[in-house]
Amino acid sequence: MRILIAEDDYASRRLLKKMMNQFGRCHTAVNGVEALEEFREAFQENVPYDLVLVDIMMPEMDGQQLLKEIREYEKKAGIKGLDTVKIVMVTALRDVDNIKQAFLEQCEAYLPKPIERTRVLEMMKDLGFVEDN
Ligand SMILES: [Mg+2]
Repeated sequence: MRILIAEDDYASRRLLKKMMNQFGRCHTAVNGVEALEEFREAFQENVPYDLVLVDIMMPEMDGQQLLKEIREYEKKAGIKGLDTVKIVMVTALRDVDNIKQAFLEQCEAYLPKPIERTRVLEMMKDLGFVEDN
């Protein structure tokens, strides 16, 4: 599977990549603009992403806007239902409730910071990327 990680913080980006490498091929972007460009390009080149991890607080274009832009792009491209990319918002624990309410319809999951390995695995199971056994 193909995974895109959008995270501006170097240490978090590195950690996420390290954790997600076991699940598939990971690419990274340092802000929303870069991530959206990468997402579009992958789609156009017929190698779309299966999963995008989106940090909420990023410069240039933040995670909330990136989420909207990706869903907008999919709509225009006629991508629906199960073909849409799975999006996980990565956020500081204190933001979770607000974020949940605001984006319940547009993303699949939330990953609180600090990021924990067990939580990542749980999330991957919930999303159906890893078999639960
Ligand atoms: Mg950030």
